[in-house]
Amino acid sequence: MKLKDKVTLVTGAASGIGKEIACTYAREGARVAIADMNKAAADATAAELRAAGHQAMGVAMDVTSEEQVNAGVAEVVAAWGTVDVLVSNAGIQIVHPVEEFPFAEWKKMLAIHLDGAFLTTKAVLPLMYKQNSGSIILMGSVHSKLASVLKAPYVTAKHGLLGLARVLAKEGGPHNVRANVICPGFVRTPLVDKQIPEQAATLKISEEDVIKKVMLKDTVDGEFTTVADVAEVALLFAAFPSNALTGQSLIVSHGWAME
Ligand code: NAD
Repeated sequence: MKLKDKVTLVTGAASGIGKEIACTYAREGARVAIADMNKAAADATAAELRAAGHQAMGVAMDVTSEEQVNAGVAEVVAAWGTVDVLVSNAGIQIVHPVEEFPFAEWKKMLAIHLDGAFLTTKAVLPLMYKQNSGSIILMGSVHSKLASVLKAPYVTAKHGLLGLARVLAKEGGPHNVRANVICPGFVRTPLVDKQIPEQAATLKISEEDVIKKVMLKDTVDGEFTTVADVAEVALLFAAFPSNALTGQSLIVSHGWAME
């Protein structure tokens, strides 16, 4: 087992990609804190994992609230003593052309994706520095590297996470703490399922064309990336045995973006 007894905290872990990362970490022996603003769903995921013989707890956390982030991390520390791995994954999508983007929605997007990464990282770093080890994983996107129409705050925030991870890699290096970004292509989760009809309406094309001609058009094989694909990368970053792998971003997207 690659994460035996490691304390891991995954935000947005009640659904989609975060849930699969939590399940993968649990199978690898980790203790998993399922942090989500949907506490009932977080508790349900934690209960599923405990029923399968794993160690898991649900934690109520809106990642945009410093108070809730600090309280959630304190709950994990009270239960398990520290945090070894943070996956800052909670996220949403809102699409509009720039000239129509409501300012409140722009700010909400930046708060969830950027403030959320900053606040959760800030809360766990002292624990990691104290024990002289840790891994911070930020959930970026192919949109950390490329742009698409209608997604100004998402693309802005996901690009910003690369900068945050690089600063964290430099500041964390002397403390044996590494920081990396995962950049998935489109994955069929509730976040993406919601976008398909929205984009069809905005772009005035069919839902099938949104999938084929917008979402998957530049992949090498027309396939969606899966939650399992992303969880494998999250496991790699969490369990990597040295600080050789830090300050990096890894694209997992069926070749949609290459570098
Ligand atoms: P999802 O909608 O399935 O899950 C997101 C989870 O985050 C939900 O459980 C939700 O309750 C939680 N959440 C939302 N706002 C929150 C907040 N303020 N505080 C705490 N929890 C909150 O979405 P997903 O597709 O699994 O996305 C997870 C991450 O992966 C996001 O950062 C997203 O941008 C990124 N991503 C997704 C895709 C994709 O195609 N699905 C591609 C690249 C990157």
